[in-house]
Amino acid sequence: MPVPGNIPIYNRKLIIFDVAMSDLLINLNSEQLTAVTLPDEPALILAGAGSGKTRVLTTRIAWLIEQGKVSPMGILALTFTNKAAKELQIRLGTMLSISTRAIWIGTFHGLCNRMLRTHFRDAGLPEGFQILDKSDQLSAIKRMMKGVNIDEEKYLPKNLQNFINSAKEQGLRPNEVDVNNAFNKKLVELYLRYQDQCLREGVVDFGELLLRCFELLKHNEPLRIHYQSRFRHIFVDEFQDTNKLQYAWLKLLVGSRGVVFAVGDDDQSIYGFRGANVGNMSDFEREFCVQHLIKLEKNYRSHGNILDAANALISNNANRLGKNLRTDAGHGEPIRVFEALTDLQEASWLVDEIKLLIDQGLSRQEIAILYRSNVQSRVMEHALVGAGIPYRVYGGLRFFERQEVKHALAYLRLIQNQNDDTAFTRIVNFPTRGIGLRSLELLADAASLYQCSMYAAIAYMKGKASTNLGAFVKMIEKMCFEIENMTLPDAVRYVIESSGLIAHYQMEKEGHERVENLHELVHAAMVFVAEEGYGRDESARSFVLDARVTPGMSLVERVTDADDVDMTPMAGFLSHASLEAGDNQAEAGQDAVQLMTVHASKGLEFSTVFIAGLEEGLFPHENSTSESPDGLEEERRLMYVAITRAKARLYLSFTQSRMLHGQTRFNLKSRFLKEIPETLLKFIMPRGQAVSHRFFSSTGNRSDWDRDRFSRSKVLSHEVSTAMKIDQNLAERSRAADTGFKIGQSVFHAKFGQGKIIALEGSGSEARVQVRFYRHGMKWLALAVAKLQAID
Ligand code: ATP
Ligand code: MG
Repeated sequence: MPVPGNIPIYNRKLIIFDVAMSDLLINLNSEQLTAVTLPDEPALILAGAGSGKTRVLTTRIAWLIEQGKVSPMGILALTFTNKAAKELQIRLGTMLSISTRAIWIGTFHGLCNRMLRTHFRDAGLPEGFQILDKSDQLSAIKRMMKGVNIDEEKYLPKNLQNFINSAKEQGLRPNEVDVNNAFNKKLVELYLRYQDQCLREGVVDFGELLLRCFELLKHNEPLRIHYQSRFRHIFVDEFQDTNKLQYAWLKLLVGSRGVVFAVGDDDQSIYGFRGANVGNMSDFEREFCVQHLIKLEKNYRSHGNILDAANALISNNANRLGKNLRTDAGHGEPIRVFEALTDLQEASWLVDEIKLLIDQGLSRQEIAILYRSNVQSRVMEHALVGAGIPYRVYGGLRFFERQEVKHALAYLRLIQNQNDDTAFTRIVNFPTRGIGLRSLELLADAASLYQCSMYAAIAYMKGKASTNLGAFVKMIEKMCFEIENMTLPDAVRYVIESSGLIAHYQMEKEGHERVENLHELVHAAMVFVAEEGYGRDESARSFVLDARVTPGMSLVERVTDADDVDMTPMAGFLSHASLEAGDNQAEAGQDAVQLMTVHASKGLEFSTVFIAGLEEGLFPHENSTSESPDGLEEERRLMYVAITRAKARLYLSFTQSRMLHGQTRFNLKSRFLKEIPETLLKFIMPRGQAVSHRFFSSTGNRSDWDRDRFSRSKVLSHEVSTAMKIDQNLAERSRAADTGFKIGQSVFHAKFGQGKIIALEGSGSEARVQVRFYRHGMKWLALAVAKLQAID
């Protein structure tokens, strides 16, 4: 990656302030102050984690408004997650005495959605267009493939999904994708079919939100000029993770008069796998002739040990722009490392620690558990539930992904848009109404013959099938009619009842929780309406936009007027459900421990952070390490992000064995642990002996926390029982070794060919080995059956 060009870097000693000292500026250091008060010219703030990039960005917005340099309407701020957007809004709210509602703050997807809702006609979309989340998109792809008899073995739906998404991320429509072989040609053809299907059904996937909005701005000059003149200042947080299309969209929006203020950190670029292009930073500098490149070098977040660990780790990456981070906070506590036998033990240790921390007065929301892979959360969630500790899971669409919630949302979507075949197929026979697969096949044929939606095709059905389908249509029509004048929460309540969903789950043996979730959806609608400021008299389906747009107004006037009233409560709620990460395990506002993937933790900070599952294959993830050095570097950046979320206390844990995807795996401890200097670490459950490298706090005293927590006797009893368990475990493994095989050995299998043993398990006739075959990937094999041959 090219190092930024010869742009003067601000020297804090040389700065002369000629700005009136606002209260907003009081606590900034001199580099931050320079950044906040820059003239109206493009700027790039390049700095490490916790150095105040987001704080600078927020303060600059507040300062520009306070100084009367721009009105809130003239600001667009792009963040990476909905949570970050919400935090930005809250921070601004506390800094300014005026309302911040007119500022456009959101993610790229969220803001594109907003524009498309406002200009749906110009964008060629139906008014009630719905958003397909990833799993909806996959089922839509499968349905399309089934319709044209494509062999799912040859063209894996998931691969086609990746192909389509990656083309969209590069801004490519089917006719623009390079076709270099027959296989690719077929993928492009399927991409085209999928696109037609989406258009017919009035749905868009995540990639489409961006691409369509980009095309809208590109081809509609008056609209482009309108937005260019509206948004005089555009802010981008986490700029290192923008992809090619997002950057192109940004350029369109900025035009010749807008001013971009971008903040980023190349060491935190963690979305390369999704097309993020860290090179956008150097492109930005060059293409926008950036004259203000500011580096922030002081870290305000973490204690010294944590920062030293992060710096040491990331220095192993070759491709860096290079930054130095220092802190005035002392060393702080050592980084505690825990080795568990199993993932269950890791989870129960983690919960014990958390209980202690809470007892010592730490609030739950200051504690985060981070993991590399979503699949790790379940065991930890289970342990937290068992201990009665409220927690919240961020990242992914947790709440909204639950089956019953998706069913309810599908009813709402179909009410909004009867062409939405994905929603239709999900619920037409749920709860069961005697509509079988055969009827649905006939219906799909009719829809394809008459080129209409499945819902519309019901009119062409004859015989027995048509009776039950007809009853379904009547029910949906009744729902449409009944909710017409209801508020959004009432409409949701009405739909979950009258669809039969509540009654269905009440009859299920374990449906209690599902019924609760359906009620929670009503609650979510209430919170949504309150937060978004929809009036009580606005019915769920009222189309505010149309009422506001008076014929005869100029396009620009219309747009200005309509900008801030861009969707009905129902459309807004459904978009929110698709876009927002769920967080409903703990009640809203309740103090809860935070669980999330490392990806989702970007930009956040917590007093105490646990990073679980530091094992080779898991973190760094096996997919990344086997691919290329770039993959490993991205994993290391991910670990850097994880470490730098911690303010005061950091725990790292790994396990000897772990149940993953239904298999027990034995992994080595992560190389990332080895890249952190041992002097910073304290092994709190060492193998057989107490290993403690830096027991002492910066004052020279062993910290109170350590003394209380790890009284010697407790450590010893812990160690003895661990040592016993480890002995059992080793004995178990050596029995497996009695079979004549060992970890790391090369073997040959008649069907899978050559490979290497990764793990051994069990003994005698139960003995199993895990082998990474060069051509067939990972396999678990029972030794009694597999007839493996050792080849070295
Ligand atoms: P990341 O790279 O993780 O997104 P960042 O560079 O955006 O981090 P911020 O989140 O803005 O960093 O700031 C980190 C912490 O440091 C926050 O708690 C912030 O309030 C605090 N902070 C930043 N600047 C100062 C300052 N000048 N004085 C006191 N605290 C500060
Ligand atoms: Mg930040």
